[in-house]
Amino acid sequence: MTVRTRFAPSPTGMLHIGGVRTALFCWLYARRHGGQFILRIEDTDRERSTPEAVQVILDGMEWLGLEADEGPFYQTQRYERYREVIEQWLTEGKAYHCYCSREELEALRNDQLSRKEKPRYDGRCRHRTGPREGVTPVVRFRNPDEGEVVVNDAVHGPTVFRNTELDDLIILRSDGNPTYNFCVTVDDWDMRITHVIRGDDHLNNTPRQINMLRALGGEPPVYAHLPMILGPDGAKLSKRHGAVSVLQYREEGYLPEALLNYLARLGWSHGDQEIFTLEDMCQLFDITDVNKSAAAINPDKLAWLNQQHLMRADEARIARELAWQLARLEVDTTAGPDLKGVVQAQKERAKTLKEMAANSVFFFREPAWYEDKAARKNLTPEARPLLARIREVLSGLDDWSAAAIHAQIEAVAEQAGVGLGKVAQPVRVAVSGGSVSPPIDATLALLGRENVLKRLDRAIAHIDSPT
Ligand code: GLU
Repeated sequence: MTVRTRFAPSPTGMLHIGGVRTALFCWLYARRHGGQFILRIEDTDRERSTPEAVQVILDGMEWLGLEADEGPFYQTQRYERYREVIEQWLTEGKAYHCYCSREELEALRNDQLSRKEKPRYDGRCRHRTGPREGVTPVVRFRNPDEGEVVVNDAVHGPTVFRNTELDDLIILRSDGNPTYNFCVTVDDWDMRITHVIRGDDHLNNTPRQINMLRALGGEPPVYAHLPMILGPDGAKLSKRHGAVSVLQYREEGYLPEALLNYLARLGWSHGDQEIFTLEDMCQLFDITDVNKSAAAINPDKLAWLNQQHLMRADEARIARELAWQLARLEVDTTAGPDLKGVVQAQKERAKTLKEMAANSVFFFREPAWYEDKAARKNLTPEARPLLARIREVLSGLDDWSAAAIHAQIEAVAEQAGVGLGKVAQPVRVAVSGGSVSPPIDATLALLGRENVLKRLDRAIAHIDSPT
């Protein structure tokens, strides 16, 4: 049997990390077993589905690298097929027209509630022989009256539902729109899905879907219902916790592999290993290792993992991402310095690409001002002769390399009888505008002589007439 999984988001809100984790587990499971991963857009809720949300799903999946083997399929393009199944079920008596009015259903419900019964449709239209004048009916699925449905869930174990608790579900509304559980069932059947991996908010839908699947002549796939993701405070994940579009993680400077690593570990583990590449996860992931209980997100851990992946990732690729971040800050990187060199100097110093970009602006653009505290401490009359001397030796330096620059700074400090920091720090403020940068020799080497001399001149002028 070829494993076939599907990710089936509804484009009614932005794809956020809860959905991404579901997608990841579906993708990993298919990859692990040499199977296929299918993307299906569940857009039958026409009022709440938006093209923007669809685009976020497609762009998000592309950014994450969770490519689908089939799809995207859109449910709104499959209405003909849904109608065909409904017609067939009506003919076979597996479904029937229901003409009950809103008032009738309301009265039934109140009756049941007053008898302390769980409200459910009592199937009164099952045996109706003719239509009711002037009423457009809905279509209901004839749910089995007896017996049990056992959901053998790979995460939660077996869960038993009694058929007497399930009523006859509406599968076609009077406006002609098929309903959610029905479409999911037909799709899972037609798409030959072997493993349904989704959030555990869907567990209660599963017995209904199993009954309908059996009506189609199928047998249930393997189900795995994933526990919810909670906010850091233990409450349901919401916008307040940053449950934002997945693409915002790119904007915030996270690498897709770091986000995926983080989400995989949220509710799944392999020994005490924390850092996983996608290849590791493809080899190791198993649905039976998923935890039963909900997991809370931890932004600090995500940031830590991002840094780990930044340090390990291919530098040319990080350079492209850094260029993207810098472009967002309206920094033109075309005139240099070499972006890969900047990445080398910065990659162990930033948790996110956004932070790396903010700390790297000075490489490409002369700082518009000096940080107040840094300037007061370092651009002083005592530092002036040191800066002037550095300018002199650097302007005559033949070999513009980090090692040669380092030797010069050391020599100037030694001659002046001061520690290295007394020279390096004013130089740092002069070239970067602040007191934090990569090692000063590498920083100057990357900036290039012309930039360095210009910025030293400006710092000396600032000491002479502070603004
Ligand atoms: N469309 C559903 C959702 O976005 C998922 C349905 C399913 O996976 O069966 O929650």
